[in-house]
Amino acid sequence: MSDEQQSVEPAQTSDMVEAPVETAPESDPRTHRFECRSCGYVYDPEEGVKKVGIEAGTAFEDLDPLSFRCPVCRSKVAAFRDIGPRTKASGFEENLNFGLGVNRMTPGQKNVLIFGGLALAFAFFLSLYSLR
Ligand SMILES: [Zn+2]
Repeated sequence: MSDEQQSVEPAQTSDMVEAPVETAPESDPRTHRFECRSCGYVYDPEEGVKKVGIEAGTAFEDLDPLSFRCPVCRSKVAAFRDIGPRTKASGFEENLNFGLGVNRMTPGQKNVLIFGGLALAFAFFLSLYSLR
């Protein structure tokens, strides 16, 4: 169903959520989604898991770690990892990827342009001199 999480970048939301200063209300861990590392299934607390009787609004940490299994591959809760809140995560990840992509591409392209241009100009001058 939710194949949108196939290429999730390794999120840096490990255990450093202790900073009280930058903790926005949106980053309440109870709203975080959790991704099954085995099959890529994403548990969304806003949706719950209807087919196993988990109501919408149930935080992942409220799930019974003994009885909850991934509805797709039956992995235990230990197989899940925090991928952050829903609204923030998607836009944030996209922006992050986009920014990284641009930042990685641009200097390389600039170098190619600059050095390519210099080499061309140099070759052009040389050819001019050799003509004379
Ligand atoms: Zn799974």
